[in-house]
Amino acid sequence: MTLLVTGGAGFIGSHFIDVYLGGVYSAQKTKIINLDNLSYAGNLDNTVSFQEHPAYHFVQGDITDATLLKYLFETHDIKGVIHFAAESHVDNSITRPISFVETNVVGTAQLLEAARQHWMSAPFKIKPGYEQARFCHISTDEVYGSTLTGVFTEQSAYQPNSPYSASKAGADMMARAYYHTYGLNVISTNCSNNFGPRQHSEKLIPTIIRKVLAGEPIPIYGDGLYTRDWLYVIDHCQAILRCFEQGKAGDVYVIGTRNEQTNITLVELIGEILNKKSLIQYVPDRPGHDRRYAIDPSKIEQELGWCAKTDFMTALRDTVEWYVSAYELV
Ligand code: NAD
Repeated sequence: MTLLVTGGAGFIGSHFIDVYLGGVYSAQKTKIINLDNLSYAGNLDNTVSFQEHPAYHFVQGDITDATLLKYLFETHDIKGVIHFAAESHVDNSITRPISFVETNVVGTAQLLEAARQHWMSAPFKIKPGYEQARFCHISTDEVYGSTLTGVFTEQSAYQPNSPYSASKAGADMMARAYYHTYGLNVISTNCSNNFGPRQHSEKLIPTIIRKVLAGEPIPIYGDGLYTRDWLYVIDHCQAILRCFEQGKAGDVYVIGTRNEQTNITLVELIGEILNKKSLIQYVPDRPGHDRRYAIDPSKIEQELGWCAKTDFMTALRDTVEWYVSAYELV
């Protein structure tokens, strides 16, 4: 079987390939095609640990390119898709929203369409040999907007507040529509904020680490009490694998760890790990900034037996260590 992973030169996608090749690959001998356009966020250094793996093949290309997708599906007879590729940074979505619509909505729709053309002969008629073919769409808890006291579940209403989350919501709706209209075997996951090695330097945790080490003030939006449920990237990749292999077709799984931290707490913890003083510089709030995200992962825990295994502080220490040595910051 050949699995198409999109965005595998990015943060989560590259960890997923590591997890996949380190685990089920040896049993199933799956070939992996990593399709990534190497945008500013993609980095082939993220793929060093598996670049030479015999099952791995990299294709530089864009998920909005229908001709390329058709070629890849046909040439490699793709029977599984794990779709990570996206414009992923909220701040950028405020300055250039249309590129988020193009990649996140149109790109996702093109991928779903390529899968439909290759796997289905008509609505709800699967071509012989493609009965197990599956499309796993990766999304975010940000589509649910902000909750001050509650928790997000698979039933939560969609209330996206940024162009990023609105574009991911659009992608989620296309994934849903392909299941309901065509019977395409689609599964979707909505996770909370990830952290770990290989994240782009624009993101919050790498920024805090860089600034603390440089003794520079850390720009923190608003009052710094914005809260996220921080999920270690390896735990997340294991959850995705579990959904891909055992989840119910057409279902959504929210993924989180019940590990809420404010931005200020993160700054303090990272300062303590680095044994350096952290200086906070409060900057004007981001428009449309969601106050709090919180996930109730009961469904994936109970139905698929997944739960996050990594201790938050251990993972945070490992993550800080990785950035320090990767960027030779000390
Ligand atoms: P990332 O920005 O690190 O990686 C995205 C990858 O997609 C990059 O390698 C980039 O080059 C590639 N890409 C972008 N546009 C493309 C295009 N048009 N065609 C082909 N490749 C393209 O993102 P990430 O943090 O790894 O996020 C992966 C997925 O998980 C995204 O769909 C994101 O919305 C979702 N997600 C991320 C988080 C998080 O905390 N990082 C949380 C929730 C959901």
